[in-house]
Amino acid sequence: MKFDELGLQAELLRAVSAEGYTTPTPVQARTIPVVLQRRDVLAGAQTGTGKTAAFALPILQILNATGRGRHPRALVLTPTRELAAQVHESIRTYGCNTPLRSAVVFGGVGINPQIDKLRRGVDILVATPGRLLDHASQRTVNLSKVEILVLDEADRMLDMGFIYDIKRILKLLPIRRQNLLFSATYSDEIKTLANGYLKNPELIEVARRNKAAETVTQVVHPVGHSHKRELLSHLIKDGNWGRVLVFTRTKHGANRLSKQLMSDGISATAIHGNKSQAARTKALADFKKGAVSTLVATDIAARGLDIDHLPHVVNFDLPNVAEDYVHRIGRTGRAGEDGVALSLVCKGEQGLLRNIHRVLRHDIPVQHVEGFSQSDCPAEGHRMGQRQGGGQRRNNTRKPPLSSSSRGARNYGEKRTYRRSG
Ligand code: AMP
Repeated sequence: MKFDELGLQAELLRAVSAEGYTTPTPVQARTIPVVLQRRDVLAGAQTGTGKTAAFALPILQILNATGRGRHPRALVLTPTRELAAQVHESIRTYGCNTPLRSAVVFGGVGINPQIDKLRRGVDILVATPGRLLDHASQRTVNLSKVEILVLDEADRMLDMGFIYDIKRILKLLPIRRQNLLFSATYSDEIKTLANGYLKNPELIEVARRNKAAETVTQVVHPVGHSHKRELLSHLIKDGNWGRVLVFTRTKHGANRLSKQLMSDGISATAIHGNKSQAARTKALADFKKGAVSTLVATDIAARGLDIDHLPHVVNFDLPNVAEDYVHRIGRTGRAGEDGVALSLVCKGEQGLLRNIHRVLRHDIPVQHVEGFSQSDCPAEGHRMGQRQGGGQRRNNTRKPPLSSSSRGARNYGEKRTYRRSG
């Protein structure tokens, strides 16, 4: 299928081809015609599937056909500031040949420039729920003309506790409107939300529920808790990784790890919810332009980040919620590129790993890096009553210092064991 078979206007096709897209992704091929028919959509599609263009292009077309408005006619709600900024950027890109105006509002930055922008007139508004409600309560936004509502990454919005905010926002919208709900997973809460607010939606599922991106090679490296950072530095240096996104469970852990990596001579920065919006934007910009090679992030901060050409994702800590594993590794292997997702798993995380296997419906292959012990994970393991996973080799040897001549970190297809010489 080609983009010009989807019934899109020439202005939009020009923008799409300027972006270098030749064929629509599956979610685009299925969603665009349905949205153009003005039907509600419930789409199971995770970040990296091209879902933003799947809703942005038909929305731009629908609004472009009826001229410009003063108050927003399309509203896109996203869980995080970064995703809001990214979706807005995409809308600007795809709509660059139309006269439509868009704006983005999120917290952590001054409200006055947003008020000015809204006052000047906006057709498409992208927002995080909290800041949108601030605008609504100050009457600096009028939502009574919204014809199309998009809930982007709705599962994450619910995880983050936005359900009450969403309900308050929905009350401010006209009852007659088109609703598009995108979610990576179909939890019971998502079903309840969909049943309550969508009218006879077209169900679009492009990847099996919780299925990890097929282009991502997944590997587990068993390692002692206190040796994780050393192993990570080794992998980054030995593999000569130019761009890696590393996940930690806590904000504090993200800060600490990025500092430790820097002391190992690796250019790193951290992104998490305790940082100011300006610091988060800078960290992401530095990473995207290659000024730093390693971005250490918590789940919420990294949610929805669209980073081109990200070949490596590392789970420094496994996520507490197994579904987050799927979101995390979805950062790599995007738009059909190959990616590698490595998980550094200590003994106390075996229970979390089993939950992930259950969600994936398969086990992740294990590769040992010789000399890295799994024996010293803190009490977590005992608390959880875990034992070491079946088939995983114990290696309690004391480690020799790392040698830069060690090899193997690049060949995931064949090698089962990495060696460290020295
Ligand atoms: P998304 O899932 O919307 O975050 O998009 C993931 C990435 O895929 C973004 O970097 C888009 O620029 C890219 N993308 C979206 N649609 C296409 C397409 N049809 N062909 C190639 N790349 C695309």
